[in-house]
Amino acid sequence: MAGLQPVRGTRDILPEESRQLRHVADTARDMASRFGFEEVATPIFEFSDVFKRTLGDTSDIVTKEMYSFTDKGGDEVTLRPEGTAGIARMLISGGLAQNLPLKYFYQGPMFRYERPQKGRYRQFHQVGIELLGVGEPLGDVEIIALGAALLEALGLSDNTTLELNTLGNAVSRTVYRDRLVTYLQDHRDALSEDSQARLARNPLRILDSKNSGDREIIAGAPEFSDSLDSESEDFFAAVRNGLKVLGIVYSLNSRLVRGLDYYCHTAFEFTTEALGAQGTVLAGGRYDGLVSQMGGTATPGVGWAAGIERLALLADKRIEPVRPIAVIPATPDMEDSALIMANNLRKSGFAIELAYRGNLSRRMKRANRLNARAAVILGPDEAAKGAASLRDLDGGTQTEVPLDALADLLAPYR
Ligand code: ATP
Ligand code: MG
Repeated sequence: MAGLQPVRGTRDILPEESRQLRHVADTARDMASRFGFEEVATPIFEFSDVFKRTLGDTSDIVTKEMYSFTDKGGDEVTLRPEGTAGIARMLISGGLAQNLPLKYFYQGPMFRYERPQKGRYRQFHQVGIELLGVGEPLGDVEIIALGAALLEALGLSDNTTLELNTLGNAVSRTVYRDRLVTYLQDHRDALSEDSQARLARNPLRILDSKNSGDREIIAGAPEFSDSLDSESEDFFAAVRNGLKVLGIVYSLNSRLVRGLDYYCHTAFEFTTEALGAQGTVLAGGRYDGLVSQMGGTATPGVGWAAGIERLALLADKRIEPVRPIAVIPATPDMEDSALIMANNLRKSGFAIELAYRGNLSRRMKRANRLNARAAVILGPDEAAKGAASLRDLDGGTQTEVPLDALADLLAPYR
């Protein structure tokens, strides 16, 4: 029955992978908090307009990838494909712009209707940060530094590279856009259908095209750097200086664009060779025009998002589960005492596995399989003396211990 399969592009996440994903998210949250970013959560779905207005009618996300539906009340809603639009909406609807600057971290599921493959799913997870109300290049430097720190903490510094570009301010962008369109018009017939459609509506996005014919044409396109005015140049120089001061290595990639109109100045991606076509693991940039485009007071912003699954795939690190302590009744009539003991120890903060069934040796086997650090074995004779057996499962030693000192004696196994 087709209904018993997960929907294409969605997956069940079992404990081993769950630990890996959580490790990525926890590391990101921890690193973000060292930089002063606090976690927020916006709803998983929003009015479709929130994304349509911010991502633009021509972006891949809006034209092809959104999960949109009409709800029972007739509202047009969309499962969020990314996190920034929701946070900008929150800033406006919550009147938060009174307290700038704001530094937010978020994590959670995102939804895009894409062709599933390794590292590309229809439901996936992102961690991301947004720095709102800081128009200075130091903001760009700090968030890139945070991205680099996260990758380092995950052990990924060696297999990722930072690519950097500037899109300049709005004036420079317009100048560049005109030069680009003039160039592309001359090659119009050779462009892919998608790119021809973008030529009128969103030509910058063509630079992002993965089509090989397009790529050849793009190779000869004018360079962004030739269209920058002095303000844009100074801004970029300051960002580069900050990265240099911090010893963060990057390469310049003049074809790196965030194709959306509200992006300006810094655009960057941390990429890897190790995940095939899914090469971008963490991507971001400055979006000073976003909040005003949504109808709020103009508020500068800069941020990034990273795919949790891609980071976990790349780190490929086994995260061990918590090692429990097993509580094992030696005979069936000790089960009530074991139940009470397990509960009390949990209240004291221990991770306890209660052995549910089988004889003593079966229950011990299960404790070993769970990689328990220790087992407390409750036998009737010892219980009569107010004692139990404590077995160190790494060392194999077993001692009789008084029940009233149990919690203290277990402290080393926590
Ligand atoms: P791509 O070029 O791979 O499609 P993108 O430009 O659409 O990426 P962003 O919108 O910048 O990606 O999202 C930030 C990050 O989220 C990506 O770098 C990637 O790690 C992750 N990501 C994006 N789409 C997916 C997906 N469908 N499945 C898993 N991870 C994804
Ligand atoms: Mg994409």
